[in-house]
Amino acid sequence: MIPVKAISRQIPRWQRELAQAITDPAELLGELELEPALLPAARAAAARFPLRVPRGFVRRMVRGDPNDPLLRQILPLGMELETAPGFVADPVGDRAAQAASGVLHKYHGRVLLIVTGACAVHCRYCFRREYPYTEFQAGADDWRPALAYLAGDSNLREVILSGGDPLSLSDRRLSALLAALDRIPHLERLRIHSRQPIVLPERVDEGLLNALAGTRLRLVLVVHANHPREIDADVRAALARLAAAGVTLLNQSVLLRGVNDSVAVLAELSEALFAARVLPYYLHLLDPVRGAAHFDVNEIEASAIIKTLRRRLPGYLAPRLVREQPGQLAKTPVE
Ligand SMILES: *Cc1c(COP(=O)(O)O)cnc(C)c1O
Ligand code: SF4
Repeated sequence: MIPVKAISRQIPRWQRELAQAITDPAELLGELELEPALLPAARAAAARFPLRVPRGFVRRMVRGDPNDPLLRQILPLGMELETAPGFVADPVGDRAAQAASGVLHKYHGRVLLIVTGACAVHCRYCFRREYPYTEFQAGADDWRPALAYLAGDSNLREVILSGGDPLSLSDRRLSALLAALDRIPHLERLRIHSRQPIVLPERVDEGLLNALAGTRLRLVLVVHANHPREIDADVRAALARLAAAGVTLLNQSVLLRGVNDSVAVLAELSEALFAARVLPYYLHLLDPVRGAAHFDVNEIEASAIIKTLRRRLPGYLAPRLVREQPGQLAKTPVE
């Protein structure tokens, strides 16, 4: 028998943190000293899309504040059960864009690969909260159909790993995928869309850096932070390790009512990102996914916010405000 201690040393710390994420609404409310009255609604909404949040992310929240901008992103609310016109299960037409198993090919020269349905955190506004991952995933064990598609289209320059969160894959599986992509000669860039460096900075460990060091592809990592308080010292250290490894770091945010729908917060977010070596890339209008209508900021308000932000910040610190429209060949800029 292997002693328990030896086993726990083999499991990377990030995987232990992931396994210990809070999934019980009662525990979350207790941890943050919030009103137990919030519990029935939280339980009802979590039955549709479960609560999941790493403890390190909860520690960045202010105790006793039900409107904390980090909490709002993850706390299941009764409002999620209300219907709203135009808010649907697949708001961006992902199902129609599937070119091969788990391959979404919407735009020229790049494809998005759904490599897992798992995330370290469940964001209540997630446009894939109802995505049928079991049906539409690039082979839980068999990447071949997806890889064959990528190999067969020599117009492709870039593969985007998405999900779920692609960094939920173990280092071993990630390395195997990277090695297979490496062998496709027309590919030049690998982009990873991941929230883990923000919500679970422990993920950026030696194992991950080794896996990333093995590829000839130019690496771009697009993280996802919505509020400056998400970026603490551990996150900055994780991002510094990635920057030192030569990875280009970008951020995408979603414009969320009650979280970051103000010029002051967005300006502070851009500053915090830059201090952590990350450039703001996209600020997305909310995708109208069922259950997220209470996060919506309308286009007129969004446009006023971004105009003021552009006057407040250097050009390279102002994200591009975009929306995703099914059937379009790129994200649509909002002026
Ligand atoms: C958003 C998205 C991309 C990436 O678009 P960029 O403008 O290159 O960031 C690629 N494929 C799909 C399907 C997307 O939804
Ligand atoms: S990390 Fe991304 S994919 Fe996962 S729940 Fe949040 S927004 Fe959705």
